[in-house]
Amino acid sequence: MKIIQIPLLRDNYGYLVVCEKTKRAAIVDPSEAEPVLRRIEEEKVMPVAILNTHHHRDHTGGNEGLLAVHKLKVYGHKSDEGRVFGMTDGVDEGAMIEIGELKGKVFFIPGHTTGHVAYLFDNNLFCGDTLFTAGCGRLFEGTPEQMQSSLTKLMALADNTKVYCGHEYTESNLRFAMTVEGRNPKLAARFERVQGLRARGTSTVPSTMEEEKLTNPFLRWDSKEIQASVKAANPASRTDPVAIFAAVRKMKDSF
Ligand SMILES: [Zn+2]
Ligand SMILES: [Zn+2]
Repeated sequence: MKIIQIPLLRDNYGYLVVCEKTKRAAIVDPSEAEPVLRRIEEEKVMPVAILNTHHHRDHTGGNEGLLAVHKLKVYGHKSDEGRVFGMTDGVDEGAMIEIGELKGKVFFIPGHTTGHVAYLFDNNLFCGDTLFTAGCGRLFEGTPEQMQSSLTKLMALADNTKVYCGHEYTESNLRFAMTVEGRNPKLAARFERVQGLRARGTSTVPSTMEEEKLTNPFLRWDSKEIQASVKAANPASRTDPVAIFAAVRKMKDSF
């Protein structure tokens, strides 16, 4: 399997997931069509499907332009019928997708939107705007309970799972993380490394699930330091996982 990252719009990432045996490819979250079409030609692959993680325009804006050129299946959560352009295959938790000889598994992970899904091919996770490198998506349509439960589901994946998210937000996410868990040495080291990569214009995506569990403040409701940061901002806050997650999300919203 080959994964090709395509920078799109200002800070989005789309991806080609290529079955190297058959040269068939899936297009994950095409924000726009042109750069994706160019890359498909350069790589000499045969696109067979679009995998949309959710309905937001910066993840589906290229569907129409791609469908004008290629015959493609379009996958998205079944509840996003009418919100994802050209959707042919509404899927839900546990569905399997075949791209050439590759097999992908669908995870239903609402919170950022009510119809958000992730796609897992081997240990490569395409998680859109739910789990970001060092962050998580805003709660536009879902509740903190939903998002915390979706993130918990993703945390059950193997530590070596590669996290391919929808945006290059790592540096600003880490800047926030340092304000709630600045004494975490692994976090400080990641922040320094990421600042160096961004100064050279290098992508910081993918990360690994292990790295996220160790340094992503939205997965660290068990951290004493994060619990203390939440308590300092709001002494009345509870310390159960959902309450800590919700409080950290709120702090990030106004960061
Ligand atoms: Zn989104
Ligand atoms: Zn997005």
